[in-house]
Amino acid sequence: MDKNYKSYFLGYFIIFGIIITLLSSLISYKIHMIDIEGSVKKYAQEVSISRKNYILQPHIDQMDDIVNSIANDQAMKDFVQTGNLLKKRELQNLFLTLTNSNKAIMQTRFIDANGQEVIRVNRDNGQSLPYIVKESDLQNKKGRDYFQAVSKLNRPVIWHSKLDLNIENGKIEVPYRPTIRIAVPLFNEGKFSGMVICNMLSGELFKSVENSPMFDLFIIDKEGNYILHPDNKYSWNKYTGVKRELYEDFPEDASSILAGRASGTNFFAYPLNSILNNDDKAILILKPKATMISSLKNTNKIVTVIVALLSLLISIPLAIYAARSPIKLQRALHNSNVELKRFSDIIDRYVISATTKTSGIITSISTAFANISGFSKSELIGEKMNIIRHPDTPKAVFQDLWNTILQGSSWEGEIQNKAKSGDSYWLEQTIIPIKDENGTITSFMSVGTDHTAKKELEAIAMVDKLTHLYNRRKMDECLYIEVEKSKRYSKPLSLIMIDIDYFKKVNDTYGHQTGDAVLQKVAELINNNTRKIDCCARYGGEEFLIMCPETPEEGVLTLAEQIRRTIEAYEFETVKHLTISLGVSTYSETDDMMTLIKKCDEALYKAKHQGRNQVVFYAK
Ligand code: GH3
Ligand code: MG
Ligand code: MG
Repeated sequence: MDKNYKSYFLGYFIIFGIIITLLSSLISYKIHMIDIEGSVKKYAQEVSISRKNYILQPHIDQMDDIVNSIANDQAMKDFVQTGNLLKKRELQNLFLTLTNSNKAIMQTRFIDANGQEVIRVNRDNGQSLPYIVKESDLQNKKGRDYFQAVSKLNRPVIWHSKLDLNIENGKIEVPYRPTIRIAVPLFNEGKFSGMVICNMLSGELFKSVENSPMFDLFIIDKEGNYILHPDNKYSWNKYTGVKRELYEDFPEDASSILAGRASGTNFFAYPLNSILNNDDKAILILKPKATMISSLKNTNKIVTVIVALLSLLISIPLAIYAARSPIKLQRALHNSNVELKRFSDIIDRYVISATTKTSGIITSISTAFANISGFSKSELIGEKMNIIRHPDTPKAVFQDLWNTILQGSSWEGEIQNKAKSGDSYWLEQTIIPIKDENGTITSFMSVGTDHTAKKELEAIAMVDKLTHLYNRRKMDECLYIEVEKSKRYSKPLSLIMIDIDYFKKVNDTYGHQTGDAVLQKVAELINNNTRKIDCCARYGGEEFLIMCPETPEEGVLTLAEQIRRTIEAYEFETVKHLTISLGVSTYSETDDMMTLIKKCDEALYKAKHQGRNQVVFYAK
């Protein structure tokens, strides 16, 4: 039993600990997962800022500065105003110097208002030195889109071309040379008078953009063509003709990206227009590398598992500790329950108790009750209490009992009950009404002790052994009570005293045993001839006394005569015929018990004297 509590509480607390641990681990796992999404977003932000603000922006700014510095040079202004050839030479040197200053600059030109190249400095590749293109190789660029676009500007602002691959003489140069053209229009007295334009290699620039351990980086133009793709063969696919659709890299997000969304299932997009400021409307896209996400998630899983295991390790000893006090309490409770059970078993076994509804229907009985009544518990529960009612118990007893308990008081008294076998048994009983909190009686509880033995002793003490009639002591008791009653209520009371005639002879002739048998027979015949309320006793050796309450003179004389005749007529075994003499007296106001008996005795004496076998009524 004790062991069961222990394992019950331990199990309970340990399971509780495990549940708490698992729940908290799960919550922390979820929070960390959300954190991962947040971290990825933060990383993307950092990467995009580094690429935009620290690589692209300064580079483009530098290019703009170079073009601006040429356009704003005094020599340039003078040349535009005057067309002075000396100035032209000076400008050519300036172009050469600036082109030389940055390896990304492949070409620097001044084109006049008619689209004619006037000054042109070329660089064949990143390694070679720039040189001035001779006059005869200069071309007219009026038809080119960049000339068209720049000549339409009405103020000296920097203009950027789309990003493309360098095209020389109508063919894409191989190896590819991604290029951006930066130009600024020049004005003389408010009139367009040419432009400074610089071709810059952007390949290296974008190469430095593309590297990130966490993200794949893409740059697309507004149509979704790749300017930069982690797989280099797809970069510039608009120009190279290599087919690659945006959705192949972003199956779920392609349309969101083109619609200008900043982030989605698996991408972060940053417009580059504010930097490139051209017609590409380029977008930088960061796609988290699958390896990065899964490694972050794996780390989180491992951390969660370790934390959960550690928490479990801590929670088990804690659970054992926490289970100790309920185990103690439970043990104490159990012990007192055992004690209580022991007491209630004793009570059940030895106390005759029962509970009934107010209607008298039995709801429970003790084993002792079942034992004494001879009924089983199941035979009694549901039955009315009067199943054990003894027919000899006067109605008045039950009336008194019910009146008392229905008023809410306890009733105490001796009751004779009838067992299942038909035998009677006596209980000294206390019946207690049980009330609810409103004071309404809900049931009765009876507790009794067995008085049967006492009753039997009492019966033995007042009965004559030989004849089973009352003995003289009992007769005196009864007589005392009845004389008192007659005195108080003025009720008639009569006595008959009987003596067998010549009984000595019977003994002498047939022996004492025959005499005893005659005494028993005479007692039986007397008893048979009297009423229930009459009280018959063996008053002496062969003398009997009959007390007849509520009986006046005529009645008692008739009864005495009837008894006399019965004995006279009866044929006894062995002895055959016998007679008796009877003295009769009735109570009068001046009598007490002694005088009443004395009167009767005198009458009997007279009957003997007058020849026996007769009834004599006492008369003064
Ligand atoms: P009578 O009354 O007619 O004058 O004559 P009797 O012979 O009956 O005289 P008495 O009433 O004095 O007799 C009493 C006798 O009853 C004495 C005794 O032998 C006998 N007796 C008394 N008690 C018992 C008893 O318990 N058993 C028997 N067998 N005889 C008893
Ligand atoms: Mg006698
Ligand atoms: Mg006699």
